[in-house]
Amino acid sequence: MSNIDQLRNKIDSITLEMLTLLKERTDIAKQIGELKKSSGLNVTDEAREEQLRKEVSEFCKRTGLDESLGKKLLNFLLNESIKVQSDGKQTHLTVFLKAKSLEQQGKKIIHMEVGEPDFAPPKTVRDALGEAFDKGFVRYGPAAGIPQFRSALAKYATEKFGAAITPENILVSPGARFSIYLAINTLLNPGDEMIVIEPAWPAYRDCAINAGVKVRTIPTTLESRWEPTVSQIEKTINENTKMIILNYPNNPTGKILPPKLQEEIIRIAEKNDLYVLSDEIYSSYSFSDWKSVLSYRYKKSIVTQSFSKSHAMTGFRIGYAVADPKIIEKMAKLQALCLTNVAEPIQYAALKALDADVTPNAKNVRSKIDTVVNEARKMGLEFAVPDGAMYLFARVNKQGFDGVEFSNLLLDHGVAVAPGDGFGNYKGFIRISACQDEKKLMDGMKILDEVLNKSK
Ligand code: PMP
Repeated sequence: MSNIDQLRNKIDSITLEMLTLLKERTDIAKQIGELKKSSGLNVTDEAREEQLRKEVSEFCKRTGLDESLGKKLLNFLLNESIKVQSDGKQTHLTVFLKAKSLEQQGKKIIHMEVGEPDFAPPKTVRDALGEAFDKGFVRYGPAAGIPQFRSALAKYATEKFGAAITPENILVSPGARFSIYLAINTLLNPGDEMIVIEPAWPAYRDCAINAGVKVRTIPTTLESRWEPTVSQIEKTINENTKMIILNYPNNPTGKILPPKLQEEIIRIAEKNDLYVLSDEIYSSYSFSDWKSVLSYRYKKSIVTQSFSKSHAMTGFRIGYAVADPKIIEKMAKLQALCLTNVAEPIQYAALKALDADVTPNAKNVRSKIDTVVNEARKMGLEFAVPDGAMYLFARVNKQGFDGVEFSNLLLDHGVAVAPGDGFGNYKGFIRISACQDEKKLMDGMKILDEVLNKSK
């Protein structure tokens, strides 16, 4: 056998040995997951991860293995553990699917788990779709969006968000979700770290895990009115940290950060050269002072926006990102690879939607939130009154419930809410969406009160 064949055989057998170990590791991770579940422990244990990270770093130094490769592999392994241990986790989506299947069996369900406005998109959108067809706007187009729409969005964003935005700053994407996916996947690499302030919409974490990026969470509490502290953030940043996610008004808490704190966070990001991915899709539902991250004119900020909530156009799958042209170019490249471009008729419809007056939507959402808040107060739920968005994040463990157990029990009584567990380590909480007509909301809250206060 020649030298090269011998070496090749050796490398093959090492690869298989590594896979055998990976299988063993995954099985153990599953076992640990079961134990964590039964004892109510969180999936991620930062202290243990830190310990292992140190050991890996020392190992690399001792053996001469490239440390960035070691960290990349470690992140991959840790993320695989998170994946197997998060299996079967109940989120607003699992509750929604369960509710749908109950409906198919003929049960009536009041949906207070999903965040989807119950009102219609602007009327002009319907006409625009027909117009797009008649005018022949039914073809492939540029990856970042049709020029006319990018220009209109730049003008709109300049007026609304306190910054000078040009069409080159805009990427049209199928919903804010895809802009978030693109930003994380183009700007971060396996081995990098990203900070998420929890409770948080779960897709930030899932996107990062999918991209081999390590997520560092900053937990906030109801007692601290869902505000992170500057020192929490500073302590979480290390040489691998590349991005921090902000989402205000927040899903699920409805929190808007005090302006001074938000500004301080941007300064910390600037000092540490971090990207700031600010998901601002609930900005049109702000009931107290809100300021876009764009207004700080920070070069490494990426703001995501959407027509889903503001214009009730969830099903159209249309949103956009605002960032430096270099960032937009990178995101557009990956978008071109994944889906060529957003459907032209949909872009045209959203262009027309920009002219619609959506202030009645904000009034509508505000009034629904007020209804839920008032009812929640009467029944003794604990929560911070939302500053915006469409949700109420309330504690149910004072009444002796776990959020998942409570959501399941409530679903048996015909009301769907989201367990807090889907947004981080918030087992004692539920998220109530105020996205139904007021009569349904009142009915839902009445049932919630009965289950909360009379069934234990
Ligand atoms: N960000 C947050 C905070 C959300 O709650 C949602 C949807 N619920 C999205 C992004 C996704 O929105 P889109 O429909 O624009 O993809």
